[in-house]
Parts: sequence; C-alpha cells; structure tokens
Amino acid sequence: MPDIAHNWKMIQERIARAAQACNRDSKDIEIIAVSKAQSPDAIRQAFALGIHHFAENYLQEALPKINALQDLPITWHFIGHLQSNKAALVAEHFSWIHSIDSTKLIQKLQKAREGNPSPLQCCVEVNIDEEDNKSGASIEAVAALCEDIIKSPALRLRGLMCIPKANAPDKALGAFLRLANLKSELSETLAYPLDTLSMGMSADFEAAIAAGTTMLRLGQALFGVRHDKPY
Ligand SMILES: *Cc1c(COP(=O)(O)O)cnc(C)c1O
Repeated sequence: MPDIAHNWKMIQERIARAAQACNRDSKDIEIIAVSKAQSPDAIRQAFALGIHHFAENYLQEALPKINALQDLPITWHFIGHLQSNKAALVAEHFSWIHSIDSTKLIQKLQKAREGNPSPLQCCVEVNIDEEDNKSGASIEAVAALCEDIIKSPALRLRGLMCIPKANAPDKALGAFLRLANLKSELSETLAYPLDTLSMGMSADFEAAIAAGTTMLRLGQALFGVRHDKPY
C-alpha cells in the first residue's frame, strides 16, 4: 500500500519550493488528484488529507466511483478524451471538464447542462506539441472553440489544458510556456479573462509551476506507481 500521506507531504514541499523559486504563491496552484485506477478507499484516504478535487479520465470507471463516494463533497474533474455521445454523463456528474476539443462536444455539453444552476467549468485541451494521433484541439482551432464556450450559457470558459509530448521532460517547459502565452493572447483577443492553466503532471509539475500553471493534475506522485488494471 503506497503511503499517500507521505506522498502528499512530499508533493506539498516540492510545490512550495518550486513556487518560491519563481516568486509565486503556492496558494495560487490548485492540486487535482488524478484518481484513475485508484479505488474508492484510496480516494477516501486522500480526501481525509484535505484533497477535495479529483480527476478521472475514463467515464465507465468514474461513474461507479462517483456514486460510491457521494457522501463526500468532492469536486470531480473530467480530464480524458470524451466522445460527444457521452457528453451528457459528464455534464450530469462532473463540475469541470478539461478536455474540450470540438464544437460538437460543446453543443452536447451545453444542451445536457441546461437548467443546472451551476455552469460546467470548461478548459479547452490544446495539442500543444502538434502531435499526430494526440487528442486536443489544434492551436489554430482554439480561439473558435473558446468563443463557442463563451456563447454557451450553461458552460463557463476557464482556460486551457495540455499534455506535452511524452518522454520528453526537457521539452515540457517550452510547451507549458507556449500554452501560457496562448492563454494571455486569447484573454486579450477574446476580451475574456481566462483564469486557468491546467498543466503539469507527476513527471513535470515543477516546470509547469515555473511556466505559471494554476492546476496540477497529479496521479502517481500521490497514489504511487499506477498499474494498468483499474483497482
Ligand atoms: C493520468 C493523467 C494525469 C496524471 O498523470 P500522472 O503521471 O499519474 O501524474 C494527468 N492528466 C491526464 C489527462 C491524465 O490522463
């Protein structure tokens, strides 16, 4: 059993050090615990440490867990690729989605969230390294998707998300800085203040902090090495 409490302490120390190194306040950096492949029990342990934001990226796995943990006031984030025919389930069960990459998905989310008093918090996922076969919107497509979200009353545009190229930790900082720049540019051209940069995972979160991240998505750093099989 990995020692979640110990890992949590290590993460907080590393974040504090990285934030200090670039004169940032670590309070401006939200930690989202990525609980894919983790059991409801592991999530309860993490919650007891004061972690209240959890993220899942497979809907089939997430829904029974969300149901099993209904007694806890968890804020659920959806971070995986989503087919538009499953949009209604995310609109119903999650507070955030970080992985918006198409107009069709925006339309379905809007329709499904209509009538809910709290809008769905949205980030557009950007294929920042312009990789083939990678989810996320192309850099040229991002502005139009942001406009579509702004026009959707049941959705609230918060910012941008990215997953840099795998196995290239020395390149991650560059990717994060490009996403941060894109967010600043869009805030101006859209005259809409984007307040969220969802970037940084277990292997690269210090670089993300240096580049201005506001939300880290941390799985293995908290829960230990992840095995392919769900819990
Ligand atoms: C799995 C996953 C993470 C967390 O990755 P770790 O390396 O375990 O920190 C973050 N974001 C997304 C989109 C993921 O799928």
